Amino acid sequence: GADGHPHSDDGGNVKVMCRFRPLNDSEKGRGGSNVCCEFHPSKKSVTINMSKRSGDNFSGSNKFTFDRVFDTDTSQREVYESAAKPIIDGVLQGFNGTIFAYGQTGSGKTFTMQGPNIEDLQEQGIVPRMVRTVFSRIDNMSENVEFSIKVSMAEIYMEKIRDLLDETKVDLKVKQSSEKGIYIDNLTERYIGSSSEVYEIMNIGNNHRKVASTSMNDQSSRSHSIFIMHVNQTNLDDGSSISGKLYLVDLAGSEKVAKTNVKGTQLDEAKGINKSLSTLGKVINALTDKKQTHIPYRESKLTRILSESLGGNAKTCLVITCSPSPWNELETMSTLRFGTAAR
Ligand code: ADP
Ligand code: MG
Repeated sequence: GADGHPHSDDGGNVKVMCRFRPLNDSEKGRGGSNVCCEFHPSKKSVTINMSKRSGDNFSGSNKFTFDRVFDTDTSQREVYESAAKPIIDGVLQGFNGTIFAYGQTGSGKTFTMQGPNIEDLQEQGIVPRMVRTVFSRIDNMSENVEFSIKVSMAEIYMEKIRDLLDETKVDLKVKQSSEKGIYIDNLTERYIGSSSEVYEIMNIGNNHRKVASTSMNDQSSRSHSIFIMHVNQTNLDDGSSISGKLYLVDLAGSEKVAKTNVKGTQLDEAKGINKSLSTLGKVINALTDKKQTHIPYRESKLTRILSESLGGNAKTCLVITCSPSPWNELETMSTLRFGTAAR
């Protein structure tokens, strides 16, 4: 079963990277150019200098080290090269891969995964760049290899899976078969022939997500959105084939829901989100721990769906996103601690 899935001995297939976005106008309005973060020349560490206001709540080191730290000036291209390129290379060799963006709402998860403009080659985030890499590889491939690319988009909200490409599919189940492995049953799969077709599909999925979120009190910051791409290559000479599955996940905002004024649905939401985010943390931690043999994939829908794309030969990158503003330093500390625990 999924819980007994073999995993890598050295944790070398799991990377944790951290990105700080620039200060935004409202943060500048409140605090001028003050920032809480100090970047190290190694590009692997960041120190948080806590203000007196909240400094008393924290003890211990405020220096955090990751596989890579992206400072506020880092380009989309540089983030892609470090965090995503090795993973798409793996997918094209037949390995599964997963990239997550984790952080408080407004810290840059969607900017990093998708970019502010999907079609703009400079501003594109990780997802459209990976798509572009796949199609440029196809263009340069010999004629005797046939590619088949399938794309799906789903959202998980309060442990319910919704199809972002078909609004009528609202409570999909996770199933397992010997042929397909673990999959979301009845999820729409679209066959794709070019990058621009994928961008169109991403726009459709994003719109469905937005429509639901305005009617449901900004549900989108409390749900996980998943972009799935299957890449299958068949060698027409000998009939052999390899396939890789890619999961790109824009996670729910990691912020704590304020302790006051939370009841009913909102409280259930907070618990549900914290559960799947904390399960994700536990799973990633277990994957990087040599001694751990039980990986709690089954504790949340998200980790169950991803169980065949985390660990083993699959390549995983967790990108944690942070605001540099002293106003967000407590959330930033909590995000950095999540990232450290996952390493
Ligand atoms: P999240 O998805 O985590 O809620 P967003 O990705 O929507 O956050 O980012 C919030 C705002 O900050 C957006 O206006 C976005 O364009 C901007 N932003 C985020 N990251 C960056 C960055 N690295 N450079 C410039 N602007 C950014
Ligand atoms: Mg977002």
